[in-house]
Amino acid sequence: MDKIIMKTPLVEMDGDEMTRIIWKMIKDILLLPYIDLKTEYYDLGLEYRNETNDQVTIDSAEATKKYGVAVKCATITPNAARMTEYNLKEMWKSPNGTIRALLDGTVFRSPILVKGITPYIPSWTKPICIARHAYGDVYKNTEMVVEKGSKAELCVTNADGSESRDLIFDFKNSDGIIQGMHNLDSSISSFARACFNYALDQKLDLWFATKDTISKKYDHTFKDIFAEIFENEYKEKFDEAGIEYFYTLIDDAVARVIRSNGGYIWACKNYDGDVMSDMIATAFGSLAMMTSVLVSPDGIYEYEAAHGTVQRHYYKHLKGEETSTNSVATLFAWTGALRKRGELDDTPELCTFADKLEKATIDTIESGIMTGDLYLLSTLENKTKVNTEDFLKAVNEKLKELL
Ligand code: NAP
Ligand code: MG
Repeated sequence: MDKIIMKTPLVEMDGDEMTRIIWKMIKDILLLPYIDLKTEYYDLGLEYRNETNDQVTIDSAEATKKYGVAVKCATITPNAARMTEYNLKEMWKSPNGTIRALLDGTVFRSPILVKGITPYIPSWTKPICIARHAYGDVYKNTEMVVEKGSKAELCVTNADGSESRDLIFDFKNSDGIIQGMHNLDSSISSFARACFNYALDQKLDLWFATKDTISKKYDHTFKDIFAEIFENEYKEKFDEAGIEYFYTLIDDAVARVIRSNGGYIWACKNYDGDVMSDMIATAFGSLAMMTSVLVSPDGIYEYEAAHGTVQRHYYKHLKGEETSTNSVATLFAWTGALRKRGELDDTPELCTFADKLEKATIDTIESGIMTGDLYLLSTLENKTKVNTEDFLKAVNEKLKELL
């Protein structure tokens, strides 16, 4: 079989620990034998980030803007323990944060469903994809503890120097607390466009919800910006694609999500997305089966797994012990990126390969061959736990049948 030719390189962002090991295995076992893999390689492993004063992260994001599609391995976000472990010059920022800021992107997370792993809500037969607005609100707030007898006001100094004031509360009878937060029309608009674009890309309905009945200016602005952008830029495209944009109140949305069968994108404000993405991930079974894609408002895509570097397994691996780490989400990051590259470059062979590789992966698990995390959850009767590498080799056997 001739190897599939790629027209444009993928931006490849290598990472850390166990996922770095898996990264190479995926390439060696499942990609390089079949694809004339073209990538522009950036080593986001912590050692090289430290060596380049994190410039490599910025360079990889710039390359993503240039080429349009990237695939990223999980990376360490340094904390105090990592400062010593890696002898770091500085506590470098989260690469995901840096890349997200440079691309002005929104993260979409979707579970991969397989037979044998039943969601806690069994009626969820299709994935629920969560989009979290990752800017502002309570994550960039200012808070104060207020003493009895004080009066709290919101005060804005306008561009002309005049002041606009509004009473928050008169704390006559008790101590209390106050909180100030903000968001930006520009950020909300980017979020809205990323969501509408991704819904079109995936041919899925888009749901959005806020508490606009209570928050008549703050949340209502989110609702209005979404509605305006939808009417002006996306309504016709949604009609053509046969998909729907649906707005409702957040409490109504939660009730409908529980009753639904899945199969839509749920756009959430920052806090709602933080909470709901953990609920959705847990309910679908395993963080190791959750994919993640960062989408910019102008249609740039960066694919990755939602989980981290699986540190505990890496230390076992370093000691020479066998690991059974789940590579599915990382593998689906690759297939997502290859399929998108294929779509953009009009190389359907690449899209077909990505489809078949995903099918081979799911077929392998559904045939009973799986890593330890899924082995614990699966209700299949004939199931076998395999190690990290043997799982990928089993996927390769299935893939050969499909090609
Ligand atoms: P983690 O790497 O996601 O792992 C947490 C635990 O979840 C693991 O110890 C493992 O449980 C289980 N797990 C996660 N992925 C798995 C997989 N593929 N296969 C099998 N089990 C899996 O999170 P963490 O331990 O909190 O963080 C480790 C490092 O990852 C940190 O340095 C953090 O900064 C980084 N991180 C990076 C990203 C990213 O790059 N997007 C995201 C999150 C965290 P058991 O140990 O019980 O088997
Ligand atoms: Mg959370």
